[in-house]
Amino acid sequence: MGMSYEAICNDCGAKFTANEGGGFVFHLLHCDRCGAERAISFKEIGEPHLRYIKGLGVPYSGMTAEHDRHIQETYPGDPMDRDEYEAAVEQLCGQCECGGAYRFNAPPRCPECRSANLRKDPAARRICYD
Ligand SMILES: [Zn+2]
Ligand SMILES: [Zn+2]
Repeated sequence: MGMSYEAICNDCGAKFTANEGGGFVFHLLHCDRCGAERAISFKEIGEPHLRYIKGLGVPYSGMTAEHDRHIQETYPGDPMDRDEYEAAVEQLCGQCECGGAYRFNAPPRCPECRSANLRKDPAARRICYD
């Protein structure tokens, strides 16, 4: 799921570490203007996450299968679909300092020039963090 990699900016040549996706216990969103990262844990999300798991009907991941099944069997709230859930999480993340909004589909950006025109450094080893 989540991945960390060495990125090279195609516009200014800066090298930096970019992160994409989330982990088993959090989501990673980026600001749609400056590309700043915002990690939000499922715990922090709270109720919408429980409703989403319930709506899934299947475990979110093998790691959390037992926990997810428990939610699906016992959580009394209404299920939520993916679109509703992502909108709720984006709202919880709030606004970035730059005035942009954190979005699931916003790309990482160069910390130097804010370009989203990046390539992966072929020389660097990818680090999968889950
Ligand atoms: Zn750049
Ligand atoms: Zn921002």
